[in-house]
Amino acid sequence: MGEKYRVMLCAGSRPELIKLVPLYRLLHQNRIIRPVLCLTGQHQDLLQPFLAEFGIQPDVMLQGETVHRSLEELNRRLFRQLPHAIKRHAPHLVIVQGDTTSALTAAVVATRLSIPVAHVEAGLRTYDVNAPFPEEINRQTISTLASWHFCPTERNRQNLLNEGRHPAHLFVTGNTGIDMLLQTLGQRQKDPQNPDPAPPRPYFLITLHRRESHGYPLRRILNALRKFAEAWTDYDFIMPVHPNPAVKSAVHALFQGPENVRLLPPVAYGRFVGLMQKAFAILTDSGGIQEEAPALNVPVVVLRDKTERQEGVQAGCLRLAGTGPNGIFTELALLIQNPDHYIRISRAPNPYGDGRASERIGVHLNKILTGQHFNDDKGLYNSE
Ligand code: UDP
Repeated sequence: MGEKYRVMLCAGSRPELIKLVPLYRLLHQNRIIRPVLCLTGQHQDLLQPFLAEFGIQPDVMLQGETVHRSLEELNRRLFRQLPHAIKRHAPHLVIVQGDTTSALTAAVVATRLSIPVAHVEAGLRTYDVNAPFPEEINRQTISTLASWHFCPTERNRQNLLNEGRHPAHLFVTGNTGIDMLLQTLGQRQKDPQNPDPAPPRPYFLITLHRRESHGYPLRRILNALRKFAEAWTDYDFIMPVHPNPAVKSAVHALFQGPENVRLLPPVAYGRFVGLMQKAFAILTDSGGIQEEAPALNVPVVVLRDKTERQEGVQAGCLRLAGTGPNGIFTELALLIQNPDHYIRISRAPNPYGDGRASERIGVHLNKILTGQHFNDDKGLYNSE
């Protein structure tokens, strides 16, 4: 066999790495593709322990910031560094995931270098450029640049069809985050070091980080959660705190104090999966956790006004509480006081995939790179 097709996967943030690892591992077994992993340095310090945990050595590691910089500074650095990195490896295709500044910049740079872009987790929308910010802008722009769109759900594919994308360029695959979750659960079950004892008391697991919540909305959420924790002392409230200084300082100022509140530094992925699995419920503004928790049958209260994960709301696994105290109190109290409601949410079907998204993406990539995609009538408009 001759030279393999080089496919560069770009990741900058924790969720991008988590969601690209299963695809990267799979492409290592691929007979015609050589994957090249490029880390952009966007969450440099946060990603280091994850690389060790996943046993992954990136092929390219751009030197990022150790302190949090503005989006403009991040953008400037990436526009300076990414063209060299991409040119040096001369990939046949660049893969970006999701909606970060790293993903957007990599898509722009690859397009300028005439390298086709494939987008993993394509077609998520709120159609509000301020929520989530800047993710909605990033993902809409990536969709205009990408040649190939791997959509987690049929709803995501419909969004892209409505925006005028050609059906032959859209594939419904499920979310690769579910692949990672199920693989990790499988490993944890086999690990004798991991007996995972039942928690002594039921707990809410909390994560908050969204940029559009920084400032007043975050303070409002934290005040509501603190009052709730003070009122419901039979429950624990466990929160791994995101390292962004805007989040960290607000959490330590407003949420620290009650005896049943435990603040933790960011937690390794495997341990976080264990924490999610055993939680009474998860309170979050995270995108990825809205997908993972339904696969674990754990109810999720979304601490945002809007979500692009509407499938989860419709399926009944996600409850959108908003950022105000009334919505948050109502949703949390319902979970505790109404067992039928709790059971309905935890048993609602997970719409985000069956753990085989990377496998499907791999099959499509083989066809795309060898030019078979457009010759294969069966595959042409098939969402599978
Ligand atoms: N996560 C983790 N440790 C933590 C918090 C989150 O491993 O302490 C994982 C979580 O399971 C999910 C991802 O990080 O896979 C979500 O990241 P985040 O909420 O930062 O980003 P988003 O999904 O909102 O883009």
